[in-house]
Amino acid sequence: MSAFAAGESGFSTRQVHVGSAVPEASPRALPIHFSAGFTFESLDEAEAHFGGGQGFGYSRTGNPTVAAVEKRLASLESGSDAVLLASGQAAVVVALLGLIDAGGHIVSSNHIYEGTRGLLTQNLPRAGVTSDFVDDVADPDAWRAAIRPNTRALFAESISNARNDILDIAAISAVADEHGIPLIVDNTFATPYLVRPIEHGAAVVVHSASKFLSGHGTALGGVIVDSGRFDAARAGDRFPHLTEPAAPGAPSLWELHGPRARAVYLRDSEAPRLGPTPSALNAFFIGQGIETLSLRVERQSQNALAVARWLDERPEVASVDYVGLDAHPHHALGERYLRGGSGSVFTFTLTGGREAAAAFVEAVELFAHMAHLGDTRSLVLHPASTSHVFRTIPEREALGVFPGTLRVSIGIEDVSDILADLDRGLAAARAATSDAREGALA
Ligand SMILES: *Cc1c(COP(=O)(O)O)cnc(C)c1O
Repeated sequence: MSAFAAGESGFSTRQVHVGSAVPEASPRALPIHFSAGFTFESLDEAEAHFGGGQGFGYSRTGNPTVAAVEKRLASLESGSDAVLLASGQAAVVVALLGLIDAGGHIVSSNHIYEGTRGLLTQNLPRAGVTSDFVDDVADPDAWRAAIRPNTRALFAESISNARNDILDIAAISAVADEHGIPLIVDNTFATPYLVRPIEHGAAVVVHSASKFLSGHGTALGGVIVDSGRFDAARAGDRFPHLTEPAAPGAPSLWELHGPRARAVYLRDSEAPRLGPTPSALNAFFIGQGIETLSLRVERQSQNALAVARWLDERPEVASVDYVGLDAHPHHALGERYLRGGSGSVFTFTLTGGREAAAAFVEAVELFAHMAHLGDTRSLVLHPASTSHVFRTIPEREALGVFPGTLRVSIGIEDVSDILADLDRGLAAARAATSDAREGALA
């Protein structure tokens, strides 16, 4: 710092240069590298970064805090590589655009996050990418029948909203493999603690890290985890950007990186050019959240099972769609895939319809009424008036969304307090519907 000594350097110079060199230290917690870029020691080091991808140069192409969290996520999802992004939607769109050209086609589960659905039905068609939707996601033949010569990806959620369907990951991965295309699984609701889709044959996993991974409702983020099992022979000519030379005479990504070609393309060419880079601060929050993922998801799943059983006995409740209940149509699939719990996001439907639902969300005190999930705190949302407000009534019903349906995300609170709050909500629902009945009779 002697180059910037007072008396030698001016005030304005010193205010930006003195104290900007980070002292060497060995922090136990993940340091937040809140820096747009990183300096090079030499011209050779700069060239090794730009020419060979070594080290860090600019935060859009790599940041040490982000890289540490990516490593953690790749390990927990049993993948070879992970790319952290600014949101879950960014993860979904970057994963898809890393595979699909104009004229391409996607086969997706019909039971997916509404934001992803809008991307597939409204945004991607403008770029010439179309999608078809499979309703019975448990039926491999339904997926097979929807695949066309231009299909480049299958897409589904491991546990889906609103019916709590469970994806038969091994069966649908096998269908994808038959056609040389990847199955992308959105594993947001399950988290890698409950299921690791790559271990069952999925090629790519995506998450909204804004939910259980961050876990405390503070930061948005998304992640793509690649299996590292890209197979050029199986892929044939479907992914020329991975298997053909980028320039005449140059090696292809497949020749350079083998089964990691798809992951390398995402990291080096796709994510940084599309640009939804996570901030190092959000990466820190996500990395810190993940440190308690198993504890939270275990407790949330225990609480959710107790809540679902309790709701199932109540006269104000017409149905409970929780895969942890023996009567759920996918209970056996859940037992096969989910280890350590059945998750904590599910829906239940009040007999009193919209009026009962309105009274419920306005009466509860421990549950926050909001469009989020996977928080330490319990949350509730009325899908028909929020997430599914733009769907027609028959569409909503096919997805399991009725006027009295409420979605809950069960938190880590003491279960007795959660049940007491639900009791408060149900009492209000009961009062609202009996008032309405009296009103109708008067
Ligand atoms: C929230 C969510 C997304 C979108 O993630 P953002 O972080 O909000 O962009 C995608 N898929 C599922 C299943 C989600 O719950």
